[in-house]
Amino acid sequence: NPAQGRELVLSGVEVSFGGLKAIGGVDLTVSPGEFVGIVGPNGAGKSTLIQTITGFARPSAGTISLGGRRLDGSEPEDIAALGIARTFQTSRVFPALTIGESVRVGTQRGLIGGGRTPKRFGCLAEPIGGLFGIAGYGKAAREADARAEEILKLFGERLWPRRDRPTHSLSYANRRRLDIARALATSPDLLLLDEPTAGMNPTESHELADLLLDVRRRFPAMTIVMVEHKLDIVRKLTQRTIVMAQGKVLVDADPDRAFADPQVAAAYLGQ
Ligand code: ADP
Ligand code: MG
Repeated sequence: NPAQGRELVLSGVEVSFGGLKAIGGVDLTVSPGEFVGIVGPNGAGKSTLIQTITGFARPSAGTISLGGRRLDGSEPEDIAALGIARTFQTSRVFPALTIGESVRVGTQRGLIGGGRTPKRFGCLAEPIGGLFGIAGYGKAAREADARAEEILKLFGERLWPRRDRPTHSLSYANRRRLDIARALATSPDLLLLDEPTAGMNPTESHELADLLLDVRRRFPAMTIVMVEHKLDIVRKLTQRTIVMAQGKVLVDADPDRAFADPQVAAAYLGQ
């Protein structure tokens, strides 16, 4: 896989929406296998950072690279094809598919050749052209089935027993789990999660954190960057916390030091 074992490097990244500078010069290096938390008040630019790494937003200045290969300027599906998967701050499920099919679609990246463009499935929200690629025979199809089953079973009883149900039947928390399952199905080397526990109660949040610990054990080389507000979740999962405020990196430290930093308290008060 082209992204494996490669550093993510952001250098002087700026992103503007009209006259508003959402990201104002971010330098950041994430090493392979790191689990990094990004925190910061509303509007700090956390989601925009993920949007920009994944090609949904374009930087107006600076560069983004993975293993020395430039990502900025590429389309989201091409970035996904390099082994970068993401979830969105708001859940996105395929309404026409079952839970099992949704995850199976995620496995299509690079597995099925032929004239279609399975790479478009990489980390994106909408399957293009209906359900092509879901049926299929032979080794690639069996591998896709095995991968989907493995991922669904990572979620314990939450997803696997429900695999033949339509996605719209899922509870809110299970939709958020499905978002992550679909991203994992692409076998990413870099996984970007935007507030995975948003809207979950403390019990659900900790269950999800435990799941992410399982993911970590199962795929130790995977780099994970997670926007997350809940301090206990950040502390449980990550070794490194990046605090953003007003489009810049304010603090980059271990979780305890980051949350104890007086600048961080001030940034939250100032929101
Ligand atoms: P966070 O995720 O840290 O809460 P965002 O990255 O969503 O912050 O937003 C950063 C700033 O950029 C905010 O002021 C927000 O309103 C603005 N912004 C984000 N996305 C867009 C967009 N697509 N169009 C215009 N402004 C945007
Ligand atoms: Mg956000």
